[in-house]
Parts: sequence; C-alpha cells; structure tokens
Amino acid sequence: MAYCFGVDVGGTSIKLGLFFDNGSLIDNWEIPTRKESQGENIIPDIRDAVENKMTEKEIIRSEVIGVGVDVPAPVLDEGIVKETANLNWGYKEVKKELEEALLIPVVVANDANAAALGEAWMGGGKGENNLIMITLGTGVGGGIISNGKLISGAHGFGGEIGHIHVKDGELCQCGCGRYGCLEQYASATGISRLANEHFKTWNKETKLSEKDLSARAVFDAYKMDDKLAAEIVDEFAGYLVKGMHDLEIIIDPAVFLIGGGVSKAGEVLVDVIEKKFRRNVLFTNENTKITLATLGNEAGIYGSAKLVIDEFGK
Ligand SMILES: [Zn+2]
Repeated sequence: MAYCFGVDVGGTSIKLGLFFDNGSLIDNWEIPTRKESQGENIIPDIRDAVENKMTEKEIIRSEVIGVGVDVPAPVLDEGIVKETANLNWGYKEVKKELEEALLIPVVVANDANAAALGEAWMGGGKGENNLIMITLGTGVGGGIISNGKLISGAHGFGGEIGHIHVKDGELCQCGCGRYGCLEQYASATGISRLANEHFKTWNKETKLSEKDLSARAVFDAYKMDDKLAAEIVDEFAGYLVKGMHDLEIIIDPAVFLIGGGVSKAGEVLVDVIEKKFRRNVLFTNENTKITLATLGNEAGIYGSAKLVIDEFGK
C-alpha cells in the first residue's frame, strides 16, 4: 500500500491529512500558519510536518506517491500563485519550492476547488461527476466539477462563483473591484450587510438587535419565525439562486453542494434555497439536487489527496 498527503493551507491554520492511496484517511492534524516575514515559513513548516509524520509512522519516501496542497488563491499551471493576501505571499512557485524541499511530487490547487473535489469524492456529492460546490463563508467561494474534472481556467479563476454578477446599480465595491457580485450579498459578511440595511427601515417587532446582525443571528431569528429575518433571508436567497440559475445553464450539474460557515444554519438553509430554485428551474434540471456539504473543514485535505491520486496514482 502506498501513501499520500493532503494539505489545506488557510490564513490561520494548515490542516494536514495522511491517506492510503485508496483514499482512506489514516491521520489528520493541524499546525498554525506563520504568516510573518512574507509567509516565508509556510513551506518549510509543511515540509517539517510531512517529514515528522513520515518518521512517526515509519514511512519512507518511495512509499509516498505525492503531496497535494491547496491554497487560498488562484493557482496557475505549474503550481504558481501570483499573490496570496491571506498568506502574505507575493509571487510564489509553490510546487517547485515544496518539491525541492521534500523530494516528493507535489500538486497545487485553489482551496475552494480542492474542497469541491473532496466533496465529490468522499462527501456530499460522492460519486457525482457534475457538481457545483458553493462555499458561503467570510466570502463566497466555489468549485466546479464538470465531467469529473475540476474547472480551473486560463487564469486559475475558474469556479470563483462569488463574483458572478447578480445586481445592477450596486454602489459598494466588491473585493474583486467590480460591483454587484454574489459575494456582496451571500457571504456571512454580505448577509450581515443586508441585515443592517433592513434593520434601519424596519419599524415592527423583531428578535434581532442592532448589536448582533451577524448571519448566524439572522438564521437563528429566522428559525423562530422572525419576520425581519425572513425578509433578509429572502433577499439573500434571491441573489444566490440567481447565480445558481446562471450556473445550471452553463454546467448542468447533478448537484449543488452548500458548504462554509453559513451552511451551519442547516436544513432550513437548504429549504429556503430549494423553494426559490424550484420556482424558476429549467426543465432539464428539475431533479438537480441541492444539499449540504458533509466534510466540513476536512474537505480541503480530501480534495488535495484526490488530486495526488488522480495525477500520480496507479
Ligand atoms: Zn467580486
């Protein structure tokens, strides 16, 4: 039996998984992301974490088929990232640097794409070849699997569905520099922004308070039949479903997976999205499933390991 590693590099921690090359997880753990000094410690830290685990488990280099790494940035061919604000990296040849440090083959991918691949392999979309993962976190991330392959695109920006245009006339600018992106309304931050707008003009009873208009507070109130929360959730879901209808035409997915911090609201979130989606669904997509992602924080390590198995496995 051979081994591989899946590594998910985030802004605060690096999650690592040791797998058999049939996909079963042997061990997983995490280390802090040391972002100081332009993040120069990150790659050596990954090297040390992998090597220490090999020593602990008495695994030799020739038994490891590869190391998959996902990062919070668009990834170009040859595992290069241009700039990664969350890690304080500038231009970085991630694949080359880590291969030279470890002397093991390395594959690099975008984090949201890796999460989609992980979910398609072992999570909520298990066995599906056409799948769209929507990650509703601080921002809105996404990953698209079409005919079993990740769509990463010419600039590594494929599947960044948070930047689908869903609203004309928006005056606030999105992080990408444009106006009216899905992320501005459907991320945790976006939902909170909608909540603030609605709260200002609301003059009836509500369980929400100005002190806490977080996405979580909105969904908690929504579950208690709060009318203001219902208005906010309705607007959020409207934008999200608008984006999903565009995606269904382009990708024709079998399943939409909803993940990220906002998805902790649970089935109530799927219900509200589902109802809106069905109201105007294309006839071919009547059976398209909408469901919660199931791997949570482990989706990235699974997806990164899958990339290795696809590329270097037997
Ligand atoms: Zn944008």
